[in-house]
Amino acid sequence: MGRASGDATALRTSRFISFDGAVALSSLHQRPDRYRHLEADLGGGKRIARGAGLSYSAASFGEGVVVQEMSSFNRVLAFDRDQRTVRVEAGLTVGDLLVWAGRNGLSFPVLPGYPLITVGGCIAADVHGKNPLRDGTFSDWVGSMTVFHPAQGFRSIDRASDPELFAATCGGFGLTGLIVDATLRLLPLPASNVSVRQEPVESLLESVEALRRNPEVDFGYSWHDGAARGSRFGRGIMFFGTWTDEPCAGTGRSYRPMTSALRARFPLSLWNRATVAMANGAFRRLKIHRGTETKSSFDAAFPFAAQTLYHRFFGRPGLAEVQVLVPDASLERFVGELAALVDRVDPLLVMMSVKRFLGRQRSLAMSGSGSLFALDLARTGATARFLSEFDALVLDTGAQPNVAKDSRLPARIAAMALPHYESFRRRLAECDPEHLYRSELSRRLEL
Ligand SMILES: Cc1cc2nc3c(=O)[nH]c(=O)nc-3n(C[C@H](O)[C@H](O)[C@H](O)COP(=O)(O)OP(=O)(O)OC[C@H]3O[C@@H](n4cnc5c(N)ncnc54)[C@H](O)[C@@H]3O)c2cc1C
Repeated sequence: MGRASGDATALRTSRFISFDGAVALSSLHQRPDRYRHLEADLGGGKRIARGAGLSYSAASFGEGVVVQEMSSFNRVLAFDRDQRTVRVEAGLTVGDLLVWAGRNGLSFPVLPGYPLITVGGCIAADVHGKNPLRDGTFSDWVGSMTVFHPAQGFRSIDRASDPELFAATCGGFGLTGLIVDATLRLLPLPASNVSVRQEPVESLLESVEALRRNPEVDFGYSWHDGAARGSRFGRGIMFFGTWTDEPCAGTGRSYRPMTSALRARFPLSLWNRATVAMANGAFRRLKIHRGTETKSSFDAAFPFAAQTLYHRFFGRPGLAEVQVLVPDASLERFVGELAALVDRVDPLLVMMSVKRFLGRQRSLAMSGSGSLFALDLARTGATARFLSEFDALVLDTGAQPNVAKDSRLPARIAAMALPHYESFRRRLAECDPEHLYRSELSRRLEL
């Protein structure tokens, strides 16, 4: 790591790695901590904003691109208790947001599974939380934002003042400019803890049915054993969470931070057929045995804070995650053909999960309603073949991929599967005609 300049814009060279471990490269790195640093002349060079770098795909770095890391912009700027809104800098983490809101008797309904993820990263990837059917996605809870672009300066925008830029920025992967701060809508805190009911299910369709029967649940999602095949394919656990004031053991707020680089520390993958079968069997039995558990809101929102071994076991070779929104009309065909594909190619599938989903953004984000399926695979000889046949299944069933999760998704598939891909591309040409904001993701997706 070396410094290229000694002034406030100080650029160093850093090595970046995507959370899934598939893409790693070195590029110039700025860690601004003053507003004037954001305006610094970066030599007219390409740039991209970075939050915590926890996207599975290489969304916040790229070849020849200056990475502007927003971690120092992490303050709460203004709080309107009556309106229940808070204006925060984009580098604030969702863990800090949850803790701050809780102290003020408030909650934020859309929290992704890891506490170090930032507000800027959540808006740019339009992330979802534990019941996206009821709560929508992160951007639904953003009232306004300040966006910086060198050609236009700092602009305060909302859905009324600049609907096009607002829409493109929510789920726009940092390509419309730098999100400096955002005003978020909050809800009253229903209770201090969450009671989580854990029930066995025998198939993916059974979990969709269970989620359909509980559309208003506070937390609703499932986990499925990736090692199960044949008639046991899709067996798993449903998690239904309800706010409660029943006491629980700990707050869960102390945890060892996991970055993309720390995740990849083991030189080899420790997931193989035997360890996956053993760990999944034990996990399923444990959850069934425990039944209902009361957890702190922090533990319930961020299940991966205390439990990093799952991701670290993928080691340096990394994992391949795909997540797709499947419309109800093709749900049964999708699940049937997925089971057949897994049987035929037999990839090292570690786990799957299901949520019900409603997305409203008009960008690279998934939009519309249906069931959200995520699959985590260890990287083996069968992975590439499985994923290319999975892409065909996605197109055939009208599913939409989550570009934050898949670091190899080809532009051709994104263009055909994402309903707003083409209009987003056109809008980008208007908001950033010089394509000043670039990343490995934008290069690969031909944006
Ligand atoms: C353990 C784990 C659990 C997860 N759980 C969920 C989940 O439950 N639901 C879900 O939807 N996702 C989930 N994710 C994915 C994660 O929420 C998203 O990838 C998110 O974008 C990561 O945010 P980040 O702060 O790390 O941003 P980065 O990964 O650094 O960046 C992500 C994108 O946001 C842009 N960006 C970041 N900050 C700014 C800014 N200030 N201005 C403009 N653009 C910006 C970047 O350019 C990039 O395109 C999970 C990831 C992990 C590792």
